[in-house]
Formats: sequence, C-alpha cells, structure tokens
Amino acid sequence: MAECSSYRTEDVSSALENALEPLGGFGAFVSPGQNVLLKVNLLSKAEPDRAVTTHPEVVRALIHAVRSAGGEVSVGDSPGGPNTPAWVRQIHQTSGIAKVCAEENVPLLLFDDDPVRVTTHDPALFGAFTIGRAVAQADVLISVPKFKTHGFMMFTGAVKNLFGCIPGLEKATFHLKVPGRNEFAEMLVDLMRVCRPALAVMDAVVGMEGDGPAGGHPRKIGALMASADCAALDVVASAMAGFDPMEVYTNRAAANRGLVPTTADEIDVLGVPWRELAPPDFRLPASDPMSRMPSWLNDAANAHLLARPEFTGAVACTLCGTCRKVCPVGAVDLGSDGPAFDRSACIRCYCCQELCPPQAITLHVPALGRLAARMLPRKRP
Ligand code: SF4
Ligand code: SF4
Repeated sequence: MAECSSYRTEDVSSALENALEPLGGFGAFVSPGQNVLLKVNLLSKAEPDRAVTTHPEVVRALIHAVRSAGGEVSVGDSPGGPNTPAWVRQIHQTSGIAKVCAEENVPLLLFDDDPVRVTTHDPALFGAFTIGRAVAQADVLISVPKFKTHGFMMFTGAVKNLFGCIPGLEKATFHLKVPGRNEFAEMLVDLMRVCRPALAVMDAVVGMEGDGPAGGHPRKIGALMASADCAALDVVASAMAGFDPMEVYTNRAAANRGLVPTTADEIDVLGVPWRELAPPDFRLPASDPMSRMPSWLNDAANAHLLARPEFTGAVACTLCGTCRKVCPVGAVDLGSDGPAFDRSACIRCYCCQELCPPQAITLHVPALGRLAARMLPRKRP
C-alpha cells in the first residue's frame, strides 16, 4: 500500500515502486521476455476525472514498469455494452487510454475480437468461460481496477474487474444464468481461477463513492494498492471504503472457499497502514440491506428490498437505446421520453444504470428496503 497524492506521472511511478517494493519489486512478478497483459477497467465512455475507468497515468506507470523488468506489454478490456467499433473507439479515446497506448506504442486490445474457451478444475458453478485469447495466453496477467462502489456487488475491485475478460454482451448473459448476487459472485471467483492474475494494482488515487460503478461521485483517496492476491486486495480496499468486507459479495464468495480472511485486520498489509488512507465517511451505494441478510432470504426478498432502476427525467435521456440493448431480460421499454421498466421482469442487475451514457437512470430503494437498512446497521471495520 502506497500513498499517491496525484496523477502526475512522477507521483504515480514512485507510488507504484513504493507499493511493489515490499512485495519484492516488479521483478518478482515479471521476467525478461514475458508477455504481460494489463487488464484495465474501461466500463463505459467517461473522462478520466469522472473516476469510472482506470486512470491513464496508472496505466502509463505500469507500462514503464513492465518494460523496465524486460517484459512485453499490452493493454486490454471488453467494456460493457454492445461494443460496436464506434462505441469502443469512444471509450478508448474518452478514457485517455488510447492516447497513452499510442504515446507508449503499446497494443490496446478489445477482447471481443479474439475469444477463446478456457476451463478451470475447481469450479463452484462454472467450469469453463469464454475469455479474450490475450488473457488466456498472457504469461503475466495484471488486474488494474479502479476503487469504486458497485450497486450489484457492493464494491468492484480486482476480482470484479476480471469480468471484463469476457467478451461483449456475453457478460450480460451471466445475469440470466446466475441472477442471484451470491451465485454471481461465486461465478466471478470461478472466473478469477480461470484467468489466474499474477498481480493486481488498484487505482485508488481518486475512487468513486455513492452509486458506482458509473453513477457515483469521484472521491480523492490518495492510494495505490498492489497485491499478488486479488481477493485479499479487495478485502482491504472495501474495508477502507467503510464496508464490513463480508458485505461485498465477491469477498464473501472468496472467503467461503477459504481463499481469503473475512477481515482486513487478518491480512498483512505492507507499506502504509490501510486505516491511514481510508477516506472518512465514504458514501456507500444506495442503501442495500441484502448484503447484511442471510443468503437464503436473498431471492425471496429481491423485489421488496432491492434498489430498482428508475428514470425520473432529472437528467435527459438521449434515446440512445443502450439500456434496452444491455438488459438481459428485456425489461426495458423505450418510449419517446425515455425508458420504462417492467418491475416484475427486472432482475436488479443494474446493467442499464451502469451503462447509460448520460447517467439518466438512477437507483431507487423501496420503502421496505430503507426500513430494513435502518434495522440492520452496518458493522464498520
Ligand atoms: S431493467 Fe436494468 S436492472 Fe432490470 S434487469 Fe434490465 S438491465 Fe437489469
Ligand atoms: S436512459 Fe440512458 S441508456 Fe437508456 S436510452 Fe436514455 S440515454 Fe440511452
């Protein structure tokens, strides 16, 4: 864990060195001649200062570090949404990642272009996934997430970032195959076992609080975090955000399999102590009591307790049709003023809210959900 006060190139580079130094330096992860893939988070079209995507200066620092260790580097992701060439081009350009890759002469890959089927031996749910061939063939895969809240998983970090290894709209089909949050998180841990990241470097210089991963607000944290263990990194990062780490579904799924402790204090954090960089009063996603309830109640209580997507018109809809395209259950009807949602069909995956370009869709917690949230107070780490 290292302090990183700004995205100035020199600050990020020295923070990366400080974060990696207690782990043996970058050379402990990359050997000369190895092919290294940086799996960044390019969720949707957003400028770097909106804190939706991995910041380009973090990517630049990693490119330099890989090259210093003698590795060959590429950068890639499969963003959310339909991923037409125009859609992807806009994401690459707006996020600043295309510029950094061009300046550094590094290939910027879209995993949709070359998928491959891979298997794992110890699945909880899924023994095989279609992922980008570049992910499967990388000698060293580095997950490079952004520190953000997440309406569906509660927090998105190094484990959830790997969901973008799955091409295009195939991602949305997993919301149909495993609509429940606990099972979805189990699937993500299966995916992590398939992708086998060797290292995670989290951009927590400026994170996102509130209704992430796209509709929240940027929040300065001032940290760059690194770990060889994606799940352990997420437990510590989510504790910094103010979660009991076991409220975060991916953390819980990893802990259930004995892959990670249940609290940040059981993890050996080297460098700056995590509490020193934890942002006070970090805003968590629209109050969602489900993560604090017994898992057997989840499916039964979904409709009454979970936040649901809503279009209020407070932010104008551009009628782009993305929400309708990405909804895995066809619960979005697009009229001339904006979207309407079929509440009984909606499985509360929040893909529409995440991917709406102008963030015109918000999340609304039903009255019963708000009441339950008051009755089930959060356990602060
Ligand atoms: S309406 Fe939105 S939240 Fe509901 S299932 Fe469709 S994409 Fe998911
Ligand atoms: S609500 Fe958002 S995603 Fe849906 S059509 Fe309007 S602008 Fe596009």
